[in-house]
Amino acid sequence: MLCAKIPNLSPFSSLLSLLLYCSCISVLLSLLMNVTPPLALYFHWPFCLSKCAYCAFNSVASPPLPFVEEKQWVQALIVSFDWHVQHILQNRAPFYAIQSIFFGGGTPSLLHPESIYTLIKHVRTLWPFDLKATEITLEANPDTLTADRLISFFEAGINRLSLGVQALNNADLAHLGRTHSLERALQVISWISKVFANYNLDFIYKRPGQSLKMWETELEQICTFNSPHLSLYELTIEPGTPLADPMKKFSVKTERFLETTLRFMQKKGYSAYEISNFCRPHHACAHNLAYWHYQEYLGIGPGTHSRIGQRSERTAFTALSDLHKWRISVADTGGIATTTPLSSKERLIEHLLMGLRLEEGISWHQLEDNAGTSYVDTLCASSHFKMLQEKNILIVTQNGIKASHQGRLQIDAIVDYLNI
Ligand code: SF4
Repeated sequence: MLCAKIPNLSPFSSLLSLLLYCSCISVLLSLLMNVTPPLALYFHWPFCLSKCAYCAFNSVASPPLPFVEEKQWVQALIVSFDWHVQHILQNRAPFYAIQSIFFGGGTPSLLHPESIYTLIKHVRTLWPFDLKATEITLEANPDTLTADRLISFFEAGINRLSLGVQALNNADLAHLGRTHSLERALQVISWISKVFANYNLDFIYKRPGQSLKMWETELEQICTFNSPHLSLYELTIEPGTPLADPMKKFSVKTERFLETTLRFMQKKGYSAYEISNFCRPHHACAHNLAYWHYQEYLGIGPGTHSRIGQRSERTAFTALSDLHKWRISVADTGGIATTTPLSSKERLIEHLLMGLRLEEGISWHQLEDNAGTSYVDTLCASSHFKMLQEKNILIVTQNGIKASHQGRLQIDAIVDYLNI
């Protein structure tokens, strides 16, 4: 309206109106920037070709679904997404800024690229975000990837690929229950590096029978791929999985593997920005940073988690993990199983567990904004907090808190000890 009136005014009034117009726009923009929270969006694809021996993720073994059935599942994800937008984000939905989309699983690289395109396109009808400026990750396993499929995923909107390699020898891959061979993984890594500027490779250490020396040799090989991002995780054995018993005999301490990994990767020029994640400059994973910064995130699919709302309005949502129950309930309830408003104490604990994993730690501003100043003051005044500072496990600065190198090796224990 202001624009439409400007041509009818005198030159002086036109100038004045223009200035007023510009200042209104800048106020509006700064308002929007303050009230526009970033949102990380996750889609879960719960199918894998087979179940790995250590896996406790919400996934089931299945041959690739016929395309008709895949489309029905994709439609269920869309219905669930729409339900979440309408019932959880409500009238705030347009104000969110999509920070990242992550297709995880399971094995979402089993999907046809058209299905990925359909999901991204649907999200963009609500948030017309810039495809190039928004990190969109696809988790992938080497088995079904070809150079052509990788190009098709890129054309569908994927701009970051995360490949589960896990080990660099066939005996360990077989022992972990992985279905790909080392040769296949090496071939796929070479294709990925040609199609994607941004990608991640996943590896697991502390495997049965793996010594520190063996892991260091493997790390040398891993670094020859020159991947912009590496996720290096300790093998965690969930009770009830096939590897649970053999691991009882395993004795080298996790801390020694962690220390070796951190030291090694820093020497190779990677930033150890999170306890298990390493990157070249400007290649930190924006999606995972949303979790570690305790920002809002929306999970769509069976077994997913969401944290929506700020400060006292923050609420935890979990989706039904049973695939059938989830799918038949998406239209009525979005597939949600539980809705739990989080107390200040719970928000503080969750924020510490997430943020202390980061090398940068947590800023006072973020922590107080999330959990409330009085809770943070109480935490800082506690004798346990002071003890952790004295022991150089927690480092307190004017800007915030972070865990020391030693502290980052035992974050769960720190939060337990703080006894919040
Ligand atoms: S590929 Fe990943 S999600 Fe699937 S079974 Fe293996 S570890 Fe689990």
